[in-house]
Amino acid sequence: MDYDSIKTNVREVLKSLPEHVTLVAAAKTRSADEVSAAIDAGIKIVGYNYVQEAADIKPHILQSVKWHMIGHLQTNKVKKAVELFDMIETVDSIKLADAIDRHANDAGKIMPILIEINSAGESSKNGISIEHLDALVDHIRTLPNIQLEGLMTMGAYAIDPDEARRYFRETKAAFDRLKTVKLANITMRHLSMGMSDSYKIAIEEGATMVRIGTRLFGERYK
Ligand SMILES: *Cc1c(COP(=O)(O)O)cnc(C)c1O
Repeated sequence: MDYDSIKTNVREVLKSLPEHVTLVAAAKTRSADEVSAAIDAGIKIVGYNYVQEAADIKPHILQSVKWHMIGHLQTNKVKKAVELFDMIETVDSIKLADAIDRHANDAGKIMPILIEINSAGESSKNGISIEHLDALVDHIRTLPNIQLEGLMTMGAYAIDPDEARRYFRETKAAFDRLKTVKLANITMRHLSMGMSDSYKIAIEEGATMVRIGTRLFGERYK
């Protein structure tokens, strides 16, 4: 897509968002110049699904932005992810949390994370089910190099809006419940949910962070 269209899209979406909602540009498959155009129009956070793709693009982005990992993270990529990203939105297991804590310690960094909820409960997708959430939170509170800042969910693909709403609502309920937990390394302030075709519903249901790709950059062809 041409750079002026990307800039127009970014400005339109930013203008449409309530003040308390943060926009993450989901940048998978986009060129560094496309991402750069989006940043010129006001993007402050760029999200990537793969560690390697972020590593390839990051050196070409000269503006100062935050980088979020929004794809499934394998434990053998954690070291690099901790170096590259300002937040990992997709923590869904004790094993992954432990690896992040260990590499954050090595890097002398406190790593902000979100827990990814598999609200749709489909076994093929990533994220932890709500019934296992408390056990993961209980473990994370013992990890000094992690700062738990909220929850993320994908919702479900290509389903009717009422069903998406139900998943967002369940995740919001878990978010509100965890907000009452007061511990040094837990501050529940981000609820990341909603994509191009669902972000308006997600915001109605309490999202504070939306991850948008297609609506900013156009259709993906790769
Ligand atoms: C691609 C992606 C998005 C954005 O999806 P669009 O439909 O292109 O807006 C959001 N979150 C994650 C995790 C993604 O992989």
